[in-house]
Amino acid sequence: MISKAEAIILHSRKQGETSKILTLYTRERGKISVMAKGSRGVRSKYLGSLETFNHVSLVFYYKEGRQLQYLSDASIVESFPSLHGQLGKMALAAVMCEIIDKNEQEAGHAEPFHLLLQALRALNDGEHGLRNIIRAFQLQYISQAGYEPILDACYYCQKSAPDELNFLSIEQGVYSCSQCGFLQQASRHVSGYVIELLRWFKNVPIDKASLAQVPKSAGEEIDAILAEYLKSHVEALSHLKSVDHLKKLQLELGKS
Ligand SMILES: [Zn+2]
Repeated sequence: MISKAEAIILHSRKQGETSKILTLYTRERGKISVMAKGSRGVRSKYLGSLETFNHVSLVFYYKEGRQLQYLSDASIVESFPSLHGQLGKMALAAVMCEIIDKNEQEAGHAEPFHLLLQALRALNDGEHGLRNIIRAFQLQYISQAGYEPILDACYYCQKSAPDELNFLSIEQGVYSCSQCGFLQQASRHVSGYVIELLRWFKNVPIDKASLAQVPKSAGEEIDAILAEYLKSHVEALSHLKSVDHLKKLQLELGKS
């Protein structure tokens, strides 16, 4: 069956002398892999359209149950050149793409597609606070995938203003205030400030996420919470190669 889709290229690998296998996230069908024959030749009709992170419009032969589909045509809808021009931006974009690539349990297609697209655009256009785009993406994506943490109020007494010290249950995706005390499952202490930031990241339009002023220590705490949260709810997200790469890159950049 000939199908059309809007897609974001999550990653690509070379196949033989002239072809590529692309992993795509489509608005219509979620994740698919396609073979792009002859896509690496200098006279290829695809030219630069099949670069990672590109938003493309596709025509392909789709067969249900087949692991690899066959690309027939592709054209660029939007590309994000600064993601390829800057190492740090590329590493951040790769984290989002790996999360979507690995989460086979994801529920919808259109919502995560738009979230990823807006996040890539924000990363491409932004200059400061880019890490915050990834934080908002992680929280909003995992919520769309069906694991939404409830951060609006204490789980027990429904008090909405967090205390100076609160208890967060990663497993249950809820927190309690200091009076209500420990939740049954393994909890971690979190400051009210971090709860407020998590709420903000969960609800902010992704193109505004970079505006947050997050001190380094709070940012690291949020990153640790988010990593643990993804790991606890989706096993396939327990280890992300792109996050290792990002940490290594930060160390190297820190040294220079
Ligand atoms: Zn309470």
